[in-house]
Amino acid sequence: MIQINQNFRKLPGSYLFSEIARRVADYSREEPDAALIRLGIGDVTRPLIPAVTRAMAEAVAEMGTPGGFHGYGPEQGYDFLRQAIAAHDYQARGVQVEPGEIFVSDGAKSDCGNIGDVFGPDNVVAVCDPVYPVYVDSNAMAGRAGEYDPATGRWTRLVYMPCTRENGFVPAIPEGRADMIYLCFPNNPTGAMATRAQLKAWVDYANAHGSVILYDSAYEAFISQPELPHSIFEIEGARTCAIEFRSFSKTAGFTGTRCAYTVVPKELEREGVSLHALWNRRQTTKFNGVPYVVQRGAEAVYTPEGQEQVRETIAYYQRNAQVIRDGLEQAGLEVYGGVNAPYIWVRTPDGMDSWDFFDLLLRRAHVVTTPGAGFGPSGEGYIRVTAFGGAEEAVQAVERIQSVLK
Ligand code: PLP
Repeated sequence: MIQINQNFRKLPGSYLFSEIARRVADYSREEPDAALIRLGIGDVTRPLIPAVTRAMAEAVAEMGTPGGFHGYGPEQGYDFLRQAIAAHDYQARGVQVEPGEIFVSDGAKSDCGNIGDVFGPDNVVAVCDPVYPVYVDSNAMAGRAGEYDPATGRWTRLVYMPCTRENGFVPAIPEGRADMIYLCFPNNPTGAMATRAQLKAWVDYANAHGSVILYDSAYEAFISQPELPHSIFEIEGARTCAIEFRSFSKTAGFTGTRCAYTVVPKELEREGVSLHALWNRRQTTKFNGVPYVVQRGAEAVYTPEGQEQVRETIAYYQRNAQVIRDGLEQAGLEVYGGVNAPYIWVRTPDGMDSWDFFDLLLRRAHVVTTPGAGFGPSGEGYIRVTAFGGAEEAVQAVERIQSVLK
């Protein structure tokens, strides 16, 4: 009889967003007239920019002609997009990344989840706490996480690196072994960003110990402070120890359109084997490329018109983030993030439990947030607020929270 992957049995239910949905639905039944403002889920709300929709419409028309039809494309992405990415996202900032090192994909979620295919089962995995759950669950599925302990909310074989206000939400290097190190900056959920010096320490550690840094910079477009690094490859030595994930989801509203990319430098080797070659083998075996139409849309993000339009959209969300930050601070709350990220990480007042504060904001302010405890034990005592809603909603949400906390 067939055997299932037993690791799936160990996974706890995906509790966070279903529990939020349940509490919101319960409350909406109790108070059907409550006009809720949803600042919980991390999806964007602004439409695709005109430069992208025009490029996609042209590509659709092209696909309907004998000369312009495209079938299977290269698994790694079309050269036109890989070149645009290398030129604009890296070379324009003085960072060495070649088009051939870029693998275009349908999402940073897929790539972060799939990258484990090229690593052995006995590696020690280190994750931030709180954490984007994909890094944890994908390693649990691969058998690298050990057992889940409901009492602590932790997996026995994972190394959790606490990100707290004491360390500015940038984790310290763990004392024991860490082979696969997931770092996410700008961070989901804390909104924190690491400095060059902090990343350099990680790069030095990884090179010295033969580890690999899996660097998720899906929120790179939100970095506003000029001194901060946009890519791990801005850090000397990263080409021999890091893989970087980026996405058009938050940069250009592609959450429903699906396009992202992963950079695996050609000099990155472990056990004498090129990880670039392994990832190429993995992708060409299990992935058949991003649609031509979507890649033409992504390419249009890099045109002068596209750049101007995406900057406007990002600026819109950044203004929301500032409104939320300032407003919640005025309400007397301790507020982090929101400067280089679309997430504002808010300490609950008077040591309140994060689900209790979530309920208070839902029931009294009619604002939906995300309890920090859902992202890991160190998220307890915080809630996450996103800047991805509408501008008026941000203003209203803040006013309501201020009046509740008065
Ligand atoms: N990485 C992080 C840290 C995220 O928060 C998200 C989405 O919320 C993703 C990756 C997913 O990106 P994509 O839409 O490209 O799959």
